[in-house]
Amino acid sequence: MAKSIENMKFATKAIHAGQEPDPTTGAIMTPIYQTSTFVQASPGNNKGYAYARGKNPTRTALEKNIAALENAKHTLCFSSGMGAIDAVIKTLRPGDEVVTGDDLYGGTYRMYTKVFEGFGIRFHFVNLSDANNIRKYINEKTRLIWVETPTNPMMNIVDIAACAAIAKEHKVTLAVDNTFASPYLQNPLDLGADLVMHSVTKYLGGHSDVIMGALCTNDDALHEKLAFIHNSCGATPGPMDSFLVMRGIKTLHLRMERHCSNGKAVAHFLKGHPRVDKVYWPGFPEHPNHDIAKKQMKDFGGMISFTLKGNKLEDAFRLASSTKLFSLAESLGGVESLIGHPATMTHASIPKAEREHAGVVDSLLRLSVGVEDEQDLIDDLKQALNA
Ligand SMILES: *Cc1c(COP(=O)(O)O)cnc(C)c1O
Repeated sequence: MAKSIENMKFATKAIHAGQEPDPTTGAIMTPIYQTSTFVQASPGNNKGYAYARGKNPTRTALEKNIAALENAKHTLCFSSGMGAIDAVIKTLRPGDEVVTGDDLYGGTYRMYTKVFEGFGIRFHFVNLSDANNIRKYINEKTRLIWVETPTNPMMNIVDIAACAAIAKEHKVTLAVDNTFASPYLQNPLDLGADLVMHSVTKYLGGHSDVIMGALCTNDDALHEKLAFIHNSCGATPGPMDSFLVMRGIKTLHLRMERHCSNGKAVAHFLKGHPRVDKVYWPGFPEHPNHDIAKKQMKDFGGMISFTLKGNKLEDAFRLASSTKLFSLAESLGGVESLIGHPATMTHASIPKAEREHAGVVDSLLRLSVGVEDEQDLIDDLKQALNA
């Protein structure tokens, strides 16, 4: 018997999973079903599609594709990563508690504290570099552990399998924001997590042209709850965006290989530069959780942060405005290289003492290393460091 696509290797799944030639024309690409509704033969007698908020064939193909990449039974795509996180927290009730990391993506931190605390949900922000710290905050009200790894922008690594063991022991759901690693580098469900979230906007889309989120799980009951919220609350993406992401994912494995090799070259270049102080990248053996990164990730990715000697804000500003190939912009994971200044950009809303405690000092710069030529990227940083 022929092997199903879902049981094949990553590169094959990226290109084929969830996608069949269009039955009416043979079109090899899934069509963009730009429609809001679907005609029924008689009331309730439809072909599985009734109204496009609930389900659209282009989105279905993408959801099956992402599910295959995360070794998940179910995937739901949302109109943004934040829309996906919002749906997860809406499965909770007032009085429920969440244990999560203390260096979360800024938007997640903002949603938890500014939106959901107001609905009576309590969040504990904990240093997760040692997963055992979770135990101090778990009680009978805990429903969810929310983990990000690698973290933004400090590139800390959280031990997913260790978190999963604690979650199982206490019968709590473990969710992992897998945006920074992408399913190419890390599959949290295989490590015992119950739920994976992606900002599809980043590596999955990969071309800086779509905002989208996704949730993946093998738990039928959890999927049913999330699917109900997905349709009821309506943060669902359109067919054009679904098509663009499907197209992007076809080269995910090729892009990730280059992100990783360019990332490695840039990290080593920075480490040897006399003006650079610290370089945060999990591929260095002296990274505090390098062994865990090695264990749970296939490679170390293209996200790097670094500080400058003297830690001066104006030096970081000059560098960030002097690069030609690295564009100064928010976001990450696209084919083009980006540079960001977390203290004034992504982490500007966090009080200075708090962000400095987390390592986000004035001279910290974050790179999303793209897939351009490695030497051109290094030459660009070299000229900017001398500017
Ligand atoms: C970008 C990002 C999000 C939010 O996703 P959007 O698609 O921008 O809504 C969540 N988590 C991480 C780690 C991110 O980088």
